[in-house]
Amino acid sequence: MKENKGLRLLLIPLPLQGHINPMLQLAQILHSNGFSITIIHTSFNSLNPSNYPHFNFYCIQDGMSQNEYSSSLLNFVIELNTRCVDPFKECLGKLMCDVSKEPIACLISDVMCYFTQDVATNFQLPRIVLRTGGVCSFVAFAAFPFLIEKGYLPIQESKLEEEVTELPPLRVKDLPMINTKEPEKYYELICNFVNKTKASLGVIWNTFEDLESSSLSTLSQQFSIPMFPIGPFHKHFPINNASSSSSLISQDQNCISWLNNHKPKSVVYVSFGSVASITAKEFLEIAWGLVNSNYPFLWVVRPGLILGHEWIELLPNGFIENLEGRGYIVKWAPQLEILAHQAIGSFWTHNGWNSTLESICEGVPMICMPCFTDQLVNARYVSHVWRIGLQLENGMERGKIERTIRKLMEDNIEGNEIRDRALKFKEEAKVCLEQGGSSCSSFEKLVAHILSLKTFTFEAS
Ligand code: UDP
Repeated sequence: MKENKGLRLLLIPLPLQGHINPMLQLAQILHSNGFSITIIHTSFNSLNPSNYPHFNFYCIQDGMSQNEYSSSLLNFVIELNTRCVDPFKECLGKLMCDVSKEPIACLISDVMCYFTQDVATNFQLPRIVLRTGGVCSFVAFAAFPFLIEKGYLPIQESKLEEEVTELPPLRVKDLPMINTKEPEKYYELICNFVNKTKASLGVIWNTFEDLESSSLSTLSQQFSIPMFPIGPFHKHFPINNASSSSSLISQDQNCISWLNNHKPKSVVYVSFGSVASITAKEFLEIAWGLVNSNYPFLWVVRPGLILGHEWIELLPNGFIENLEGRGYIVKWAPQLEILAHQAIGSFWTHNGWNSTLESICEGVPMICMPCFTDQLVNARYVSHVWRIGLQLENGMERGKIERTIRKLMEDNIEGNEIRDRALKFKEEAKVCLEQGGSSCSSFEKLVAHILSLKTFTFEAS
């Protein structure tokens, strides 16, 4: 713990699991470096302040419902950015004149809470953003106006396999789109968060130089604000501190005892994160692909994962019993502990950025099954740039699943090369956080940057 800096930082996450985790990890990192922390959170997916007694919390009433969230992620994010404006203004009004606490140095906002830019400007409060996704996908988001102008977007079915020559190695089908009948609405959302990022005073990234140096330099040429790649965030702490307290669903710890009974690198871990969903048919193909691969598997089936179904009631009678302990299904898992467990041999993932980075940090090779937005870009980078995984494409079919799992788990040239490269990235992810490492230096620059904003705040207020 560094000495107290006598300054407060306001942090506002987007209220989704993949955004809350890294924002709270960032809060911990900044707190242990001497900053006081106030988390501004929405009433939707409200956070539990008792998990973080050393932070202050301020809840704003957004009026969003679970139904609105479930029916359209796109509309949810847009609505949230509209409905939070007034309560956020009121919140800043109160926090900024609270003389009982340290002066506020700046706001750190999730990129997707783009509404905060104009409000912060009105209060003359400096705003830095946190991008919880990778830089590789942000480069593609920033290129949307160009992609539209060139006719890559909207995506045409007949062109899915074509390369986007200006953004190698992406193909048209890897562009970070979402399934929507209103693509214009989606383009507008992307343009909003990209433009409000440009208007901010810097971007904090949960990534590291060795992984994304080329995307970082591409973006730095387009954005005239400083970039701070200081990740992997969760590796700044021992694992137990990093995620369990920010989990919106309770994590089933029993699977760790189950893993303890398995040989090193023998288990396939399967999870598609907190938002993605699959069809009933895909679910059954995945189940049989896993069974037929003959490898033990630990599978997170989140309630709501399977469209139109509660949980795993679709599995045939006796399915679990017949596995005789070879498969273990949970509703939500302690993912960081699992990926760090020696029994894990591969991770079948939807390639959300957190999952991708968490896998990279443990040297676990991936089977990629992206569903939408940045996951599509991340999966392409995993399989074709970093070459630490294999992508399952063009539909879920049990035979293909079985072959892919075997290729990644068995002793064969391609599998061995993938595993070797994954271990190399694991080492780089560790070294970057050591004294003199790229993320450690970048963090020092971030602290200096925040301290340099202080004068501006006080002169202005
Ligand atoms: N996660 C978890 N338990 C699970 C599945 C996921 O704790 O059973 C965590 C995971 O470690 C990651 C986050 O939830 O930090 C998911 O974020 P990601 O960006 O991978 O995907 P998203 O949920 O945003 O699609």
